[in-house]
Amino acid sequence: MRIVMRPTATVREIARVAATIETMGCQAHIAREDKRTTIGAAGSPQQLDRDHLLALPGVQEILDTRMPFKLAGREFHAQPTTVRVGDLSIGGDALAVFAGPCAVESEDQMLATAQAVKSGGAHALRGGAFKPRTSPYSFQGLGREGLQILDRVRRATGLPVASEITHPEDVSAMVETVDILQIGARNMQNYALLQAVGRVQTPVLLKRGMMSTLEELLMSAEYILAQGNSQVILCERGIRTFETYTRNTLDISAVPLLKQLSHLPVIVDPSHGTGRRELVEPIALAAVAAGADGLLIEVHVDPDSALSDGHQSLTPARFEALMERLRPVADVVGRTM
Ligand code: PEP
Ligand code: MN
Repeated sequence: MRIVMRPTATVREIARVAATIETMGCQAHIAREDKRTTIGAAGSPQQLDRDHLLALPGVQEILDTRMPFKLAGREFHAQPTTVRVGDLSIGGDALAVFAGPCAVESEDQMLATAQAVKSGGAHALRGGAFKPRTSPYSFQGLGREGLQILDRVRRATGLPVASEITHPEDVSAMVETVDILQIGARNMQNYALLQAVGRVQTPVLLKRGMMSTLEELLMSAEYILAQGNSQVILCERGIRTFETYTRNTLDISAVPLLKQLSHLPVIVDPSHGTGRRELVEPIALAAVAAGADGLLIEVHVDPDSALSDGHQSLTPARFEALMERLRPVADVVGRTM
């Protein structure tokens, strides 16, 4: 259920409606937009006294939310959400490009890659310190040491950093050392983890599970939003199909569909979406043409020696060339770089 306030409603009236919803045993979530303020009531709607709420000053109407994702949907929040990380906006007119290695391997590797992607035009750095791998014998990441490296590299380059979180108990260490918490495909339905990142205000990059529907992705976003963190970015990274020439099948229709259903920004990961270096560029161009708000691209200074995902990583030179090729496509769809 959502309560639409009159355009003239005061801050006090809005606060009173929100407080009343809370005393009725539901959580109130306020969406302030240019022309209207909507208060979403999450919880059991049968606990809410509709007539009482409707009679409160400033209330215009009470509407039922048809979609199962109450806070992630356009019904609650009609205008697109812009996620802000320092000077970087994700979901606005400008594309946001995250680039960097799959995993943090050493300080030298991370610093060299960060400097290279920055000069190639990247807006943010990616790199995993905790790597959930299919095999327990594969490189699992540098863990806390990797976080310290990321912290030093972001200070040295000024690039905001996105890195994957795999355990709720790492939240407090990670919010000090990274700017965006990435939830990987394997953890998209790890509800304790989703709730833990929902309890902080650090932006979250939520990747689609490899066997998840778009509705399931949006319901996972809902877990984060319901805890009070409104800064969620959705990421299409391919799903598992019968095709074997690619690592995953990237669902390009997810981009316009998610943007129709939800106000949250949508980015695309053509690296995991294809698993093949030579496919990264065409799929990145297609993603931007389809309306993506940004890209997540694996770049390694020496892909052949990478400890993970080298086969799908671009060299810095290829990344720079991709950024140049993106420019005219971005232009056609009215986006800036
Ligand atoms: C990653 O971004 O390095 C990663 C592990 O991606 P995913 O969770 O999409 O597999
Ligand atoms: Mn990877």
